[in-house]
Amino acid sequence: MTAAATVPVTVRMHESDNVAIVGNEGGLPAGTALPGGPVLQQAVPQAHKVALVDIAAGEPVIRYGVVIGRARAAIAAGSWVHERLLEMPAARELTGLPMATVQPPSLPPLEGHTFEGYRNADGSVGTRNLLAITQTVQCVAGVVEVAAERIRRELLPQFPNVDGVVALEHGYGCGVAIDAPGAEIPIRTLRHLARNPNFGGEVLVVSLGCEKLQPARLLPPGSIPLAAGEETADVVCLQDAQHVGFESMVRSIVDRARVHLERLNARRRETVPASELVVGVQCGGSDAFSGVTANPAVGVCADLLVRAGATVMFSETTEVRDGVAQLTARAASPEVAQAIVREMAWYDDYLQRGGVDRSANTTPGNKAGGLSNIVEKAMGSIVKSGSAAIAGVVPPGERATQRGLLYAATPASDFICGTLQLAAGMNLHVFTTGRGTPYGLAACPVVKVATRSELARRWHDLMDLDAGRIASGEASVQEMGWALFQLLLEVASGRRTWAEHWKLENPLALFNPAPIT
Ligand code: CA
Repeated sequence: MTAAATVPVTVRMHESDNVAIVGNEGGLPAGTALPGGPVLQQAVPQAHKVALVDIAAGEPVIRYGVVIGRARAAIAAGSWVHERLLEMPAARELTGLPMATVQPPSLPPLEGHTFEGYRNADGSVGTRNLLAITQTVQCVAGVVEVAAERIRRELLPQFPNVDGVVALEHGYGCGVAIDAPGAEIPIRTLRHLARNPNFGGEVLVVSLGCEKLQPARLLPPGSIPLAAGEETADVVCLQDAQHVGFESMVRSIVDRARVHLERLNARRRETVPASELVVGVQCGGSDAFSGVTANPAVGVCADLLVRAGATVMFSETTEVRDGVAQLTARAASPEVAQAIVREMAWYDDYLQRGGVDRSANTTPGNKAGGLSNIVEKAMGSIVKSGSAAIAGVVPPGERATQRGLLYAATPASDFICGTLQLAAGMNLHVFTTGRGTPYGLAACPVVKVATRSELARRWHDLMDLDAGRIASGEASVQEMGWALFQLLLEVASGRRTWAEHWKLENPLALFNPAPIT
């Protein structure tokens, strides 16, 4: 099907918008008469913006009902509005914001939805039954990986109810300014990662011995649940005098793993309410369709999850910063609004120390995909949060302690965001992409949602859901939100995602704003 043979499709998000995006695959050629609008002055690629009216130099360009920039020069109706024509507005000040002024109507409860999960002693529920090996320091990663491979090969066949072994490798623990401001973020991230619901409450730690991040500092008393009869975390220390040679280190890890595998293997899935889901949502490799198809569908799904009593976390601070007034207004209380402002102010300072601002977020791929700047990207990103009141804020590396819609303050980096959401207790991940990324995590299923059908077809064995059907008119945003909700319950119950099928497991990436020594 060529663009010329199709009916021109444009998508306008808000009645006050003076631009729309081109929906047709392959874009539209110059001379195309848009439905009810101008004639295209030049060819416009798919997902890129076209001016619906004449826009004078200095006038606002409006999408999602907000000013995404001002015209650097006069833009004639029917022209391609690309990022070079836009002057980006300054970030909204963090003072004088509306604090919990909009009380979203409380959503009616959604009852009767369940999944088959693994109940944990601490009250959380896993969607997978994994043995995790926590590491205090990067130095042990090579030995742990050899041991993990041996566990997979020699032990796992004896423990068929265990889904896999996850070596929680990271780059922290030695050569770090461990008492510097900000160092608490990577440390508490690792601490809470060890407690992810998908690890069944079993904590096996491998330490080197001389590292700054000692096991007692990583896991102080009370920070993790202990099995009956245990007083401290189960730690294998490679520098212990008992280890004579490499083989004895590996043997120690494998032997300790057997104890944890026996307990994990005795667990069975049981029917639990959908309220036990802790879903982290994020996007990566975004295009201008992200905010039209996939992210709005995720927003509908987020509302369904909140109605079902579940926890939904949205994140990516630089991608919601331009919508801060929407978020503070939607906060459930002034205290939650203040927590949102606190996290955003901290992040503004963090970026400023690096000599950049939130505009450093957008990638060449974002721009090639029609997203002119971070304001436009943010408006499309924030819709993933749906419409519920924001019930709480999770600082980076902390564990979520309440249900409902939460703002988990994390960088937008796919891997750092995913790692921090895992630390917050995520047991299921939703990831939307327009440009395409093969993202996957070892610790948690990742459900990938394509923003465009062309991507869903081309990456047919990587994308779990095609939200491009919204743009083509085959499905409504509501229908796609429900489809995602049902898919999440199936995946939570054990249905494998494409990333799991191919064992696509991106490494963890810690957020460490503190100095390295
Ligand atoms: Ca991201």
